[in-house]
Amino acid sequence: MNMFELIDKLEMEHVLSGDEYCALIGSVTPELSEYLFEKSRRIRHQIYGHDIFVRGLIEFTNYCKNDCYYCGIRRSNKNAQRYRLQKDDILMCCEQGYGLGFRTFVLQGGEDPYFTDERITDIVSSIKRLYPDCAVTLSIGEKSRESYEAFFAAGADRYLLRHETANDKHYKKLHPPELSLQHRKDCLHDLKDIGFQVGCGFMVGSPYQTVQNLAEDMLFIKELQPHMVGIGPFIAHSDSPFNNERNGTLELTLFMLGLIRLTLPEVLLPSTTALGTIHPRGREKGILAGANVVMPNLSPVSVRKKYMLYDNKICTGEESAQCKDCLANRMKSIGYNIVVDRGDWRSPENNNIGIIPGKEEINELRS
Ligand code: SAH
Repeated sequence: MNMFELIDKLEMEHVLSGDEYCALIGSVTPELSEYLFEKSRRIRHQIYGHDIFVRGLIEFTNYCKNDCYYCGIRRSNKNAQRYRLQKDDILMCCEQGYGLGFRTFVLQGGEDPYFTDERITDIVSSIKRLYPDCAVTLSIGEKSRESYEAFFAAGADRYLLRHETANDKHYKKLHPPELSLQHRKDCLHDLKDIGFQVGCGFMVGSPYQTVQNLAEDMLFIKELQPHMVGIGPFIAHSDSPFNNERNGTLELTLFMLGLIRLTLPEVLLPSTTALGTIHPRGREKGILAGANVVMPNLSPVSVRKKYMLYDNKICTGEESAQCKDCLANRMKSIGYNIVVDRGDWRSPENNNIGIIPGKEEINELRS
């Protein structure tokens, strides 16, 4: 089978073998990418139309007890200026965001012990009380099952925890010994089991990553069936052990977005800030490769430059309103519209096609 036929097969069957994913990922050309993106866009249009969902990202603390080698806010980075927002600051971000049309708030941060379960549940329940029509997403790392249950009981709807890489040896090259892929995966399974809409994800082009590793990421997400998959290029941080490593590429990140869309047709797929950082129109290109979510920054401008996960991160200078307008214009320029909506995952029974399209449906749609 040639590579174009493999993409046809993925479009029909929504899964490939590890070897087949490898073959595709190892053969990216502009022609193959365009062929893939036509299909990934089409299936995205069938399910989500030309709507773009927005999530207001509130980066509420950059204190972190972990020491991930790639990350700019790792505990060993003595050059990071640490900050944490208080509950009132966070609620102010939400108030502003609500006025701008956001119906999902994502609270993301380092693993900061100051934010005990009690503090997190208090913040989550306050947001849900004030904005019952909004979804709250947490992205605060690995916690116990009991903590996750408490967050869920307080009203949190979704949880983002990128698995970073699905290969154990590769995971060890990116993280200190006290962190393990197995624990990360256990957390993801707990979160799903509890009832969260769950997001996993990985960095593209992280140090030591192989084509096989990316194929393993594809098989992992197919197996986990997350509601969301967050991916972006790895970008070196100058105060990290990976300061001399090469960044992930635009081409490969876009290609992976296309493969993910065909593998999990109704998945929520953000076109990330990291993608916008490596190319001035990276986020637009991400949408055109099959992504359907953007996550503008709602953090107070005074702290934005401090949440520096990687060098040259964009959107650290403007007010939230500007940030949102800028993204809305970018989306309009390629024929898409940001909508005022929680932007929930559409289950196969509840999407615009009715079911995950199989061979017949796809043929019908073609004719
Ligand atoms: N503490 C939370 C949030 C981490 S920051 C957690 O552990 O889930 C969110 C994501 O940023 C990470 O999961 C990682 O995939 C990404 N990230 C961190 N450093 C990066 C870098 N140098 N380049 C690209 N992405 C990075």
